[in-house]
Amino acid sequence: MNYEKTSTGIQFNEPLLWEKSVKNRSKDLFIESDVKDFNIEDSLIENGLNLPELSELDVVRHFTRLSQLNFSIDSNFYPLGSCTMKYNPKINESIASLDGFTFSHPLIKEKYVQGCLHVMYHMQEILKTLTGLDAATLQPAAGAHGEFTGMLLIHKFNKVKGLKKTKIIIPDSAHGTNPASAAICGFSPISVKSNENGIIDASSIEKIMDENVAGIIITNPNTLGFFEENLKEIAEIIHSKDGLVYCDGANLNAILGIVNFKKMGVDILHINLHKTFATPHGGGGPGAGPLCVRDILEPYLPKPIIKKKKEKFVLDYNRPDSIGKIHSFYGNFNIIIRAYCYILSMGKDNIKKIAQMSVLNANYIKEKLKPYFKLSYDRNCMHECVFNDELQRKNGITTMDIAKKLIDFGIHPPTVYFPLIVKNALMIEPTETESKQTLDIFIDAMKKIAKLAEENPEELKTAPQLSRTKRVDEVLAARKPILKG
Ligand SMILES: *Cc1c(COP(=O)(O)O)cnc(C)c1O
Repeated sequence: MNYEKTSTGIQFNEPLLWEKSVKNRSKDLFIESDVKDFNIEDSLIENGLNLPELSELDVVRHFTRLSQLNFSIDSNFYPLGSCTMKYNPKINESIASLDGFTFSHPLIKEKYVQGCLHVMYHMQEILKTLTGLDAATLQPAAGAHGEFTGMLLIHKFNKVKGLKKTKIIIPDSAHGTNPASAAICGFSPISVKSNENGIIDASSIEKIMDENVAGIIITNPNTLGFFEENLKEIAEIIHSKDGLVYCDGANLNAILGIVNFKKMGVDILHINLHKTFATPHGGGGPGAGPLCVRDILEPYLPKPIIKKKKEKFVLDYNRPDSIGKIHSFYGNFNIIIRAYCYILSMGKDNIKKIAQMSVLNANYIKEKLKPYFKLSYDRNCMHECVFNDELQRKNGITTMDIAKKLIDFGIHPPTVYFPLIVKNALMIEPTETESKQTLDIFIDAMKKIAKLAEENPEELKTAPQLSRTKRVDEVLAARKPILKG
């Protein structure tokens, strides 16, 4: 085996600091106590300060090595479909670390934090312009939190209008958070099937739409990587019975600067700043899922909204119909700064290129790999493409084997077994930030895997061979993770 050199770097087995500790190494740090029967080390231990005894260099190496056990977008290609793992420009980090931002406090009076309010106000305005919608809140902390907020808005809208509605329509290609968000707000999710092209027909909505339906949550582009072409017609059907259209805009980078959501009939839309606008995510770090809405829902948005009055930025809490607060203060402010920097550094004219490049990259991969892996829907895609393991099955190779082997090439596996409507899905999203050279390395690795499936399936069944941790029992690893050493 001789895979790309990038994937065979030295990997350390890192013991715990406790295991590396050398008893009495720090003994000489403390002077002898002149109090009878008092030993300072014992006293520290008794007071819960039992620390491992290590040199500074031991500690530095330990944490540096731990940091290298992480796979990240800064180490290699990370084509996780439906997650948009794009490059996080370092300029965003520098600007978010400026003292004016990091030393600010959410309780400081408005007049002393005009710079911070400027960022939030303009971010609201930019998101409104980009989506074509009328109002925005920056508070939701993630996509799912945006969905939850959107469901609260629909609930409030119905309450004010005296409408009693209990159901939310959700396409079968939906992200798992969609039905969960509807259910957590007390709505019953009802599923609708996608057609043979992987999108929703207006006629199938027509069939299930009735007075009890509060609205639809529809992802566009959807999780199969296709544009929901019939959304305008679907929206008309939903609106005709006083329903509202919620669009899950987590995958906005495929249509950024190209599509006007208001014209498509969308009433509420969330945007994942941690996907579309290049802010870091993964590992449970903070995200941001701002919500944009049509004017009829503006009064219900969470408070405060940042407004501009006579050239000054102010926090508007005077919102009697608001659903209240859904995050402490104003949301994850530091993430908002990063996204704002990204948008400004792109500039108005380049925003569209984000979408064009992400679509081009996904289609490039799709076309190059089409002869080797079975495409679930053989048509032009948006920002991601979905294969499955049909061609490799005859040799006993599954999606999981393919994904695991990519680790030996130093590449993070794509999303697997999602979306659920594709059997054994392998969902690839390259993003617009990867170069053709990187895409070619990935394509080459995938071709080698297709060849191994024919010639040496055993090597795939036992992959990865080069990583520190080999094949694990997925279920056991999720239920009983071993977090030691
Ligand atoms: C990622 C994603 C979500 C959830 O976003 P989080 O920020 O992880 O809560 C919802 N819908 C779609 C389509 C997504 O891709």
